[in-house]
Amino acid sequence: GEYPPEGHRRDLLIEYLHLLNDAWRCLHDRHLVALAREMRIPMAEVYEVASFYHHFDVVRGEREAPGLTVRVCDSLSCQLAGAQELLARLPGFFSGQDVRVVPVPCVGRCEQAPVAVVRQTPVPHATPEAVVLASNRPLALIAPALAATPFVASDWAERSLPDHAGPTGYASYRAQGGYALAAALVNGERDAEAVLAAMEGSGLRGLGGAGFPAGRKWRIVREQPAPRFMAVNIDEGEPGTFKDRTYLERDPHRFLEGVLIAAQVVGTEAVYLYLRDEYHGCRALLQAELAKLRADPPCHLPHIELRRGAGAYVCGEESAMIESIEGKRGMPRLRPPYIAERGLFGRPTLEHNFETLYWVRDIVERGPEWFAGFGRHGRHGLRSFSVSGRVRQPGVKLAPAGITLRELIAEYCGGMQDGHELYAYLPGGASGGILPARLADLPLDFDTLQPHGCFIGSAAVIVLGHHDRARDAALNVMRFLAHESCGQCTPCRVGTDKAASLMQAPAWDAELLDDLAQVMADASICGLGQAAPNPIRCVYQYFAHEVGQGQPMGAPPGDLPHPHGRSLTETLPPEGAA
Ligand code: SF4
Repeated sequence: GEYPPEGHRRDLLIEYLHLLNDAWRCLHDRHLVALAREMRIPMAEVYEVASFYHHFDVVRGEREAPGLTVRVCDSLSCQLAGAQELLARLPGFFSGQDVRVVPVPCVGRCEQAPVAVVRQTPVPHATPEAVVLASNRPLALIAPALAATPFVASDWAERSLPDHAGPTGYASYRAQGGYALAAALVNGERDAEAVLAAMEGSGLRGLGGAGFPAGRKWRIVREQPAPRFMAVNIDEGEPGTFKDRTYLERDPHRFLEGVLIAAQVVGTEAVYLYLRDEYHGCRALLQAELAKLRADPPCHLPHIELRRGAGAYVCGEESAMIESIEGKRGMPRLRPPYIAERGLFGRPTLEHNFETLYWVRDIVERGPEWFAGFGRHGRHGLRSFSVSGRVRQPGVKLAPAGITLRELIAEYCGGMQDGHELYAYLPGGASGGILPARLADLPLDFDTLQPHGCFIGSAAVIVLGHHDRARDAALNVMRFLAHESCGQCTPCRVGTDKAASLMQAPAWDAELLDDLAQVMADASICGLGQAAPNPIRCVYQYFAHEVGQGQPMGAPPGDLPHPHGRSLTETLPPEGAA
């Protein structure tokens, strides 16, 4: 239960690589050889893992790591806010110094775009001057500006939503009645079956992107033979998504109580929390809050391990995350077997996104009808929209499921930025497609956007104005996917790269891109490759004028995959099959 974990377990290889990489700012051959000897595993295994993850700086020979690395996010929201200019100007500010400036994919702070990261310190709304200032400062795990991160829950106060406005530590969480439910459940004073029924009745669906009904998932895993495990996905790598971080920074124990409740109802013996490496502040916070929980536990606790991702978007896919927790390259598995049957360490595994667990306590305490009572336009529940791009007030917006983009911008985001009119939007991050302004009155929810070739995924909404082009957004996204492809299957590895190069032509080659899109969709193992054609297809369908006279492609198929959830039928076994 300690962090970092002790011992020489094979599954801790990535943790050990982090310790070395942190100490030396890179990994030399000698580090890898020494680690292989110490762990008594083949050198090739250590190397293949170290070289898979972007955050391990594997260097050949005796070349030393640069004294300082400045990372600048160049994903879509930061690109809209001037990341390219920042990247171009920053090296000049460090000329003659031992400083490296590198572009990196989304760092999960899109509401603060553009963002740079100096060592492990994020610089929100980065300017060259602010980055230089940060580079001379001692390490600060959480930048003070984070406290001012926009977060909207006020509309719900009169509807009895809990107050999420400020950070809540262990003592104050317990003082407000926190952990009473988990303790009652663990001590046998509450009925697990009743809790399960509340979860099923609430209609809560997986909020990482796939949208599988949470209660049904609990029941399926609960029926598997023990021992069972739980793996919690806090990897949050989808460009445009930052809701999990926002909640974690403010109310970590509401999430941890959800973990305890799920672990008790499903009967899992150990819990693995997989946190993305970019969230250094969150890691420090979770370590501290877990320590308080263990020091004064409200009830018997399961074994809980906090694991550190290493910069691989694909590890947000559930089976890739499990591979990573096992200390391997984060490559998605072929299914069956489904992870509900054979997941972590070969055992039945309950996999959940952070936010799904965050809502558990409130749903059980207030009753399933409380959660299901929210909603607009015939939809039910609450959604946490991560909104960024050309809106006045970006941030996490807790809003009713089914709200339209137009309503979201007007009621929650203060309208569009000055000088920008709504042109297009990405409703679900990198792979959820791109919709035009004329479709801004569609309800935003699971299942509502599929007929239009898009999906909501983890509700990462990126708004484009009339000075922006959808084709530039699509290219940015395709470059990201090419960078993040795990390389396991050729259609994805080669197809994303080839598509990104074809998408730079003034007029797109519709026939070739259509071929590529079809092969990627049909022959990729996981949702990353299967969903990669979505931005291309949306540009042809809605913004053909931007890419010449190419023939519009057919609409994407109805059963759209999500890169981190895959289609529902692949996440869990068919009902009754287990
Ligand atoms: Fe890896 Fe892409 Fe294949 Fe997924 S589709 S397994 S990311 S190569």
